[in-house]
Amino acid sequence: MAMVNGEDCCVKVAVHIRPLIGDERPQGWKDCVTVVPGKPQVQIGTHSFTFDHVYGATGFPPSSMFEECVSPLVDGLFQGYNATVLAYGQTGSGKTYTMGTGCKDGSQTGIIPQVMNSLFGKIENLKDQAEFQLRVSFIEILKEEVRDLLDSSYVGKFEAVNGHVGKLAVPGKPPVQIREASNGAITLAGLTEVFVTTQKEMTSCLEQGSLNRATGSTNMNNQSSRSHAIFTITLEQMRKLDPSVTESAQTEDVNEDYLCAKFHLVDLAGSERAKRTGSDGLRFKEGVHINKGLLALGNVISALGDEKKRKEGVHVPYRDSKLTRLLQDSLGGNSRTVMIACMSPADINAEETLNTLKYANRAR
Ligand code: ADP
Ligand code: MG
Repeated sequence: MAMVNGEDCCVKVAVHIRPLIGDERPQGWKDCVTVVPGKPQVQIGTHSFTFDHVYGATGFPPSSMFEECVSPLVDGLFQGYNATVLAYGQTGSGKTYTMGTGCKDGSQTGIIPQVMNSLFGKIENLKDQAEFQLRVSFIEILKEEVRDLLDSSYVGKFEAVNGHVGKLAVPGKPPVQIREASNGAITLAGLTEVFVTTQKEMTSCLEQGSLNRATGSTNMNNQSSRSHAIFTITLEQMRKLDPSVTESAQTEDVNEDYLCAKFHLVDLAGSERAKRTGSDGLRFKEGVHINKGLLALGNVISALGDEKKRKEGVHVPYRDSKLTRLLQDSLGGNSRTVMIACMSPADINAEETLNTLKYANRAR
C-alpha cells in the first residue's frame, strides 16, 4: 500500500468559478459567490472558505490555472512522480470545460490540451538526453464498473462512420479489472493502451474517448454526469548514456536511467445528490454508486491532507471504491494531486455550491 511520506505528499485545492452563461442572466439569476480581493478566499452567504487558489471570478485579473496548479505536475512526471488532477462539482459547474474532456468545449483551453502542449514541448527539448515513450488510456467508471473508452471495437466503428457517430457499450465485453502489484502499482487488466508519438495522436485519443463517453448512453447528459472519466498519460523515459562517463560507471546506476510516471486527469461524476423523485430504480442505483466514489475520494484526500493523521500513520481508505483503488498509486505517497472544485456562481445553485465548497475544504 502506498505510504504517505512527510512533506512530499501534497494535495492542493483550487476553486474554479465559471461565469453566468447562456440565458442565466436574462432569467434573472444572480451571482452569489464573492471572492475576497487579493486572497484565495470564497464567500457564499455567511460562509467563508480559503483555498490554495481561486480562479474565474469576474472582476479579477485572469490568472493561469495551468501554470500555477498543473505545470509543476508535468515537471514531476519527468522526475518519475505520478500525478492526479481531479475536477469536482455539480453537473453544469464546468468540470468538463475545465479538464477539456468535452467533445468541443475547452478543447483548446482545457487542462488536458495544455498538459499535452507542455509535455510534447518538454520532450522536444530533452530528446537529446533521453528517449521517451508515451501511452494513453481513457476509461469511465459507471456504477462501479470500469469501461474502456478506447476499446478498439469503438475505434473501428468510428472509422467506419468517419468520426461522426459514437457507439453503445460493447455488449458482452468483460469490464476492465483493477489489479495491484506487490510493489503497490495499480494496473488495469484488459485495458486498451495506445502508444502515441505525436500530440495529434494523443488528441485524437482524447476526442475519440470523449465522444464514446458522451454517446455511450441513451441519455447523453445523464450518463456522462454520473460517471467518472479518467484520461491517463503514462510517460516512460530512458536516459541516454553520457559518452564522457566510463562504461563501468554507467552500468552501476543503470536503474536510475529508467523512469516511469502516470498522470491521471479526472473529470468526476456530478456531485449533486441523486434525487429520489423522478428517478427509476436503475438510475437511483447509479446515483448511489457514484456517491460511493466521491465519498471514498473525499475520505482519502482528507486523510492525506491531515498532517496530524499522517504522522500517526492513519489508514487511508483507498479500497472503498473503484475510483480510489484505481488512483491509489497516484494519490498520496510521492505523487502530486490537485483538486479543482468547479462551481456555478448562480444563486439558484447556491446549495450545491456550498456543498462543493465544504467538500473541497475537507480536502485541504
Ligand atoms: P460539467 O462538466 O461540470 O457538467 P460543463 O463543463 O459541461 O459542466 O459546463 C457547463 C456549461 O458551462 C457548458 O456549456 C460550458 O461551456 C460552460 N462553461 C463552463 N465553464 C465555463 C467557463 N469557465 N467559461 C465559460 N463557459 C463555461
Ligand atoms: Mg461534464
